[in-house]
Amino acid sequence: MIDSRDRISTTDEVVAELRKRSAFVFVSHVKPDGDTLGAGLALGLALSALGKRVAYFQQDPVPRNLRFLPDADRVSREIPRDFPADALWVFCDMSDTSRAGEYLPQLDRANVLDIDHHLGNTHFGAYNYVLSDECSTGTCVLRLLRALQAPITKEIATCLLTTIMTDTGGFMHSNTTADVLRISADLTDLGADKEEITEKIFANKRFAAIRIVGSALGSARLEMDGKFCWSIVDDAMLAQTGADGEDTEEIVQHLRSVEGVDVAALFKSYDGDVRVSLRSNGRVNVQQVAGRLGGGGHHRASGLTYRGSLEDAIGAVRDAIVAEGL
Ligand code: 5GP
Ligand code: MN
Repeated sequence: MIDSRDRISTTDEVVAELRKRSAFVFVSHVKPDGDTLGAGLALGLALSALGKRVAYFQQDPVPRNLRFLPDADRVSREIPRDFPADALWVFCDMSDTSRAGEYLPQLDRANVLDIDHHLGNTHFGAYNYVLSDECSTGTCVLRLLRALQAPITKEIATCLLTTIMTDTGGFMHSNTTADVLRISADLTDLGADKEEITEKIFANKRFAAIRIVGSALGSARLEMDGKFCWSIVDDAMLAQTGADGEDTEEIVQHLRSVEGVDVAALFKSYDGDVRVSLRSNGRVNVQQVAGRLGGGGHHRASGLTYRGSLEDAIGAVRDAIVAEGL
């Protein structure tokens, strides 16, 4: 086993491992998004085509807007049983294993591959394919597929373009480099349909979803000379609109889009703890803000779970933002 705790595995090392193993379990993070799911499904589809055994596990259900992904119906909330002991567990798009949730079995680190693009990745696998310059975990997977010389089918291209469109906010975020656009064009040539993906991910909302957006935006506050915009979603708001947690994803982006706002936060107070989503225009590093409170993410998009009251969560985030220079 190569113990690469302190370094990134090379493409060749990971490809050799992918060729060697016969069975794979792909693990997505809690509240799965298009990157964690699309990356796992893309690599899983390619390995299945090479005759390997593949299973997908995640703690939470596949969100409604991602059920169109090829093989999404194979993603299970049950730990796969009767899998060989030397199956490789492939964690996609998470900086540490706690992001996979609470129900993981004890795993031998020798059987763990960590594929990710988060700066704060803890290198928890025996193999850590962590490329922090990549826009998505899916584009890390694309590098592996090219090195494997695996055929990229229309289905795989669809999964990969979904990872890119998710993590670039539909080609709007600053991680949308010329290379990302070129890769996206290649995936389009291979059969991925940008229109269809846009429609499915961004424009296929339940009526309750726009009502919860309206409710949260209606109670937004602007503080710190207009640089910090925040709002909340709580049980009462969900009950009143008929929405659920999946319907709240885009709210924080609206808060961030207000002129003059450097940092936006959405406090989601239901299911017990307070989940906080943070977004930045780049001036403040919200990965550091979240990191101060036990969370993580990227420079411009991060999150955390606060164990305490909503009021305390708002106070703690406010303090952490100030400490990070707002
Ligand atoms: P979201 O606001 O969409 O839930 O999360 C934004 C980003 O922050 C995610 O893509 C993920 O990278 C990161 N993130 C969210 N929640 C957590 C968390 O609890 N811990 C860590 N380490 N990262 C998180
Ligand atoms: Mn990602």
